[in-house]
Amino acid sequence: MFIKRIIDFIFPPNYTCICCGRDIFNNPYGVCEGCKSSLPFLTGRLCQHCSDILISDGDYCKRCKGKTQLYDKAISPFIYTDAIAKHIQNLKYNNAKYLAEPLSRFMADTFCNSKISINFVTPVPLCTKRMKERGYNQSSLLADSFSKIVNIPVLDVLERVKETGTQTELNFIERQKNLKDAFRVVNKKLVKDKSVLVIDDVFTTGATVSECAKVLKKSGAKAVYVLTAAHTIIAKK
Ligand SMILES: [Zn+2]
Ligand SMILES: [Zn+2]
Repeated sequence: MFIKRIIDFIFPPNYTCICCGRDIFNNPYGVCEGCKSSLPFLTGRLCQHCSDILISDGDYCKRCKGKTQLYDKAISPFIYTDAIAKHIQNLKYNNAKYLAEPLSRFMADTFCNSKISINFVTPVPLCTKRMKERGYNQSSLLADSFSKIVNIPVLDVLERVKETGTQTELNFIERQKNLKDAFRVVNKKLVKDKSVLVIDDVFTTGATVSECAKVLKKSGAKAVYVLTAAHTIIAKK
């Protein structure tokens, strides 16, 4: 690690901006300053629980207000729109694995600013069919890269036990039904009394991470936090 840092200092690695393709000097975020300023950062007044943008007074959005959620808090650096939505789709469907590193750099910044404390990271697993088609799990790529940046281990404690199909067209209730009992914890001992950070690519309705949190808490997890690359805004819809 130390030697790599010295080598990187003497011969800075070359990066190209993931948005405009311009060469950028020694910038692991993978985005030039011009493009960075136009990225859809998730900022402003956010729901204290799910990080949705707040449009009315109070600390919680309509979805979270007065409700007990299975996960403790969800955070995200970006809104799922524009260039970020395009990058996530490329990471997911077009084999653009190199996008995991820049995205996870921004995820690491959001995580470090959140002051959330965790014992380990775990990715949301893909169903076997999807894994076979794609050959990789985008959430695992994000989790692995994130883990290296923040120096917190990844433990694959979740397993998908039910094929759930695509959820794109489903609302929260339908997704919840579709995902019921879709996950299980493979090693309960690793989870007991631990604070876990579940990593996924996009937070849409929260149904997937809620189901993950449910099994983790059943296995004795002390806290379950969620970190995604982007968050789908529902407040304005
Ligand atoms: Zn650029
Ligand atoms: Zn909320």
